[in-house]
Amino acid sequence: MDKDIPVDVGLIYEGERIRKANMFVDLAGPKSIGVELLRVAPVEKIKDKEVTIVGPDVTDMEEGSKSPFGVFVEVAGEKMEEDLEGVLERRIHDFSNYIQGYMHLNSRDIIWCRIGKDAAKKGLSLKHVGTALIDLFKSEFDVIEKMQITFYTKEDETKKFIEDARKVFEKRDARARGLKDEDVDKFYGCLLCQSFAPQHVCTITPTRTSSCGSISWFEGRAAVKVDPKGPIFEISKGEELDTLKGEYSGVNEETQKRSNGEVETVYLHSLFGHPHTSCGCFEAIAFYIPDVDGIGIVHRDFQGVTPFGIPFSTMAGQVGGGIQSEGFMGMAIEYLRSPKFLQADGGYNRLVWLPKALKDRIESELPAELKDKIATEEDATELDSLREFLKEKGHPVVENWGKEEEEEKAGEVPGGAPGMVVPELSMPLSGIPIAGGGGINITFKNAKIYAEKIIITRKEK
Ligand code: SF4
Repeated sequence: MDKDIPVDVGLIYEGERIRKANMFVDLAGPKSIGVELLRVAPVEKIKDKEVTIVGPDVTDMEEGSKSPFGVFVEVAGEKMEEDLEGVLERRIHDFSNYIQGYMHLNSRDIIWCRIGKDAAKKGLSLKHVGTALIDLFKSEFDVIEKMQITFYTKEDETKKFIEDARKVFEKRDARARGLKDEDVDKFYGCLLCQSFAPQHVCTITPTRTSSCGSISWFEGRAAVKVDPKGPIFEISKGEELDTLKGEYSGVNEETQKRSNGEVETVYLHSLFGHPHTSCGCFEAIAFYIPDVDGIGIVHRDFQGVTPFGIPFSTMAGQVGGGIQSEGFMGMAIEYLRSPKFLQADGGYNRLVWLPKALKDRIESELPAELKDKIATEEDATELDSLREFLKEKGHPVVENWGKEEEEEKAGEVPGGAPGMVVPELSMPLSGIPIAGGGGINITFKNAKIYAEKIIITRKEK
């Protein structure tokens, strides 16, 4: 590692969190703009180890401020291929977090980075961050012969870079859309998020891109080729145990093995029973709304509250960490375009609420007859108004409301909710004071839970 870098660099800093009180400057994040992109380029176009900063460096920023932030990594090498871009791009996250006093969250155009006060006092600059990243990438991947990094902190240039990067993301995502799970005999898995979500095993199939949205099936395949002992691995599909739910014996076996036996069964396309585990860097969350027997989706960029009265961040804190949470699932936005999108639960016919910006983004995927029947925050901000909206618009879920009541009268418990037979339900609890901070998880195994209603309320500060 370059001796001029004024802070330590190493794996031990990976879990370091820089709280607001210790923040020198925020780069990108929810109150600014930003993106990170990695591209493969011809060898002759790359100036090896060059770090360029377009705009002010951190050392010229004011304490407590925020800045637009773009990270453009270009790599070259004889064995480099375009399919590796997404996989290498995802490594910006963990390598950045090796740098003491520099924090990196999320991926693509939702990144959020932070420089701590101590690191700023020692003189940490973006030049140093770039140099450390180049050293880390080149020592981990032999295939990278040359690498250069450009950081953007000027608003106009960052905006332009974000537009360009989004075009690349769209092209990458579109590539996997033509392929079906039935066309392949192998899926891929990723363990990168186990550093903070120990039970989390991402399963990546043609119709289920990774939860962070960064790694498609093609990129998983390319990663295994160049780094067969790395965090991304091959999964033999095995027997298809349930077509609708997306249950495969190979996925179950591999997940069980790689989660140390904690997760035994995974349904790739359902929120109920055994949903996919949720790490923490998912782009969006799918959540079941018992009151209307429908499914809502909220994405990371949405600053408002869901019909439950809680924002994305609160929900993410409760369902993340690598657990299976019945009725909740972290997912990529691209999964909304999947032909198998929550197909066991009714797919789009069960979708009742999502933020307007997200609805606009995926509008072309929504069936024409449903477009006006799915609410956004402009139509409903809590459960009563959501119920009214769905009734007025004649959403398909409304047909089930009557059936539920009849079944309840007949003394039966309808499938899914409000009564659920839950093989395992982990319930993260906040608000209970614990010495040293943090929270607790209560895990019910093989429990039957009957509830007339589930009410989630926001705790006023
Ligand atoms: S979300 Fe999944 S694919 Fe993405 S880095 Fe984490 S484990 Fe890997």
